[in-house]
Parts: sequence; C-alpha cells; structure tokens
Amino acid sequence: MTALLAGVAGLFGLVFGSFLNVVAYRVPLGRSVVNPPSACPACGAPVRPRDNIPVISWFVLRGKCRDCAAPISSRYPIVEALTGVLLAATVFVVDINWVLPAYLWFTAVTLVLILTDLDHKRIPNRILYPGTIVGVLLLGSGAALDSQLSQFGRAALGGLFYFAGLFLLALIARGGFGFGDVKLAFLLGLFMAFQGWKHLVVGIFLAFFIGGLLSIALLVSRRRGRKDAIPFGPSLVLGAWIGITYGLPIADWYLGI
Ligand SMILES: [Zn+2]
Repeated sequence: MTALLAGVAGLFGLVFGSFLNVVAYRVPLGRSVVNPPSACPACGAPVRPRDNIPVISWFVLRGKCRDCAAPISSRYPIVEALTGVLLAATVFVVDINWVLPAYLWFTAVTLVLILTDLDHKRIPNRILYPGTIVGVLLLGSGAALDSQLSQFGRAALGGLFYFAGLFLLALIARGGFGFGDVKLAFLLGLFMAFQGWKHLVVGIFLAFFIGGLLSIALLVSRRRGRKDAIPFGPSLVLGAWIGITYGLPIADWYLGI
C-alpha cells in the first residue's frame, strides 16, 4: 500500500514539478503563476499540451523549442524528476498516516525555496509565509487526528528553538546569513522536531556542516569572494531533509562511537 501511494505521489510530483518550476521563477519577480501561460522565452510561442509532458517532452524535443530551436534549460526536467522522487521518498519516510499531507507540503515548499535561494539569492516571504502557515495547520490537524498532540508541542518548541538560535547567530555574525534563513528555520525546526529531538539536532548539525563545506568549496574554486553572501537556505533544507529521514540512525551511530 505504501509503495502504491509512493508511486502515485511520484507521478503527481512529475506534473507538480513543472508547476514548481514556474513558482520558483515567477513569484520572486512578483509575477502571476497562472498568467500568462508557459511560453518559449526566446520566441514567445506558447507551450503546446503535447510538449508539456514532464521530463519526457524535454527529451523528445532534445532540449530545444519546437518553433525556434532555442535551448530549453535542463533544469526543467531535472526539477520535475526531483519533485517526483522527493514526494515518493516522503511517502516512504513518513508512511501512511494523517501527518503525511503536511510532510508532502513541506517537501514541495522547501524544494521551491532551494530554487529561489539559488536563483535570486533570497527566500521570498510570498512563498515562505503561506508555506509556513499551511504547514503548521496541516501538521497540527494531522497530529490531532493521529493523537500526536504532544509531538506537535515538541515540534513547535523545536521550530522556536531553531528560529531563536539562528536569530542570535544572525545578530552576532552580521551578514553571514539573511533574515530569510532565520524565518525558514522555524518551518524546518517544526518538521524535524515533530519526528524527535535527535532528528532536530542532527538536522541542525548537518546544515552547518554542509554549509561550511559549500563555503570552502566556493572559496577554493574562487567562484565567490569572501564577502559575497553564500546562499545558506539550500544547506538548511538539505540538513533538515536528512535529519528527518536519517536523524535517528545518525544520532545513535554518533552516540555509539
Ligand atoms: Zn521558441
């Protein structure tokens, strides 16, 4: 049953992924996600329904517009495939229960925020605020239906803890990361701590570990100067995803050595 639902979530994710591409590209620019419909940025030809099949169409068209042969970024099929894989993985990690919709929502929102942070170097409030509010409502009502209200209390505490921690760090470090990252930390802390305190601690540790490695890699490759802000959002999200999925075995392994 879980595998079947994961398959459905994966197929849905492929289609939903093309919508996430549009959200990540348009919302930070303050544009509508429905109007105008998708068109080739080079020649303006609208995308035909048969050319709008996730992942497959890009390969059929060999990554080029059917009308003007302008290249279409490989990022579109990559995000579509990634959304499918991540939503299917979410079903396997969380399993079938009332908080599953909350976690599917969490996966989609955090994936979009990775994309906007990489593209526009910001975490837009227009995505983060509704993402957080709907996330709290879905997780809270799911927890109530699953009789997991004490876990939800722990989740809220975890969110506040991560938020306060990054807030203090942002004040001390001045410019290391933005206030968008601080606000994002509440959402991440909420969903990690719902699973357990160990998941939260592992997720926070990994976020800083991955962020540190990325900073060093970027400095060494000289793609970024020392003063340029490094988008920290993707590291925070990656840490949270791993913390939610593998927090328990990682914590137990670390405590065992
Ligand atoms: Zn074109």
